[in-house]
Amino acid sequence: MIAIISDIHSNLAGLKAVLKDIGKTEKIWCLGDFVGYGPNPNEVLELIKDKLTFKLSGNHDLGCIGQMDLNSFTSSAKAACEYTAKILTEENKKYLESLELLETDDKSTLVHGSPREPVWEYILNEDIAFQNFSFFESPICFVGHTHLPVIFKKSKPHTLVSKPGEEIKLDINDKAIVNPGSVGQPRDGNPQSSYILFNEKKFTVIFKRVPYDVKSTQEIMKKDKLPESLIERLGHGL
Ligand code: ZN
Repeated sequence: MIAIISDIHSNLAGLKAVLKDIGKTEKIWCLGDFVGYGPNPNEVLELIKDKLTFKLSGNHDLGCIGQMDLNSFTSSAKAACEYTAKILTEENKKYLESLELLETDDKSTLVHGSPREPVWEYILNEDIAFQNFSFFESPICFVGHTHLPVIFKKSKPHTLVSKPGEEIKLDINDKAIVNPGSVGQPRDGNPQSSYILFNEKKFTVIFKRVPYDVKSTQEIMKKDKLPESLIERLGHGL
């Protein structure tokens, strides 16, 4: 069994709750955006970095180490990146520099955004998913970036929106793009942290939701004067 997490965004309380829920799962893969938006980049990296088999780079990870132009970010995302860049330790900056843009495993391809554009493209709908199916060879491609838990399949029904806890069987002869949602800033209207469990042998995924102490994250963000809009959205999961 493999736990797949994404978009932690410096939210230590969310990450701790998810790691507790994951328990002794054999492997953890992270699809990027470890930092940005939230208040605890160093603590998040120190907690997660030794636990990962695969570690991907997201646009915020690159933005916070000066490898992406922050003018392509929204003003609040840019402010949070500048805050992060100021407090990141040298060691953690080096860790962010070591992240990969694309990884492949036996049956899986892993990217932050899309197989066509690993860092930037958002796979938000079936049309964009279909444009991306020819850009990976494996039966399944895991993506993050949109913060929306969803499965897009080549066969019908093309879109499956997750029901937490339900085991979904995928077809090894089909192609699927699977997004585990976000640990640190969910955007599907549910403020609980999101991740998935992937059973490679059975070829199934289970979407998981985990409540965490949203207020504790919001309080540190307030104290550190992070943008109000970023603090507020955590409470709504948007
Ligand atoms: Zn993100």
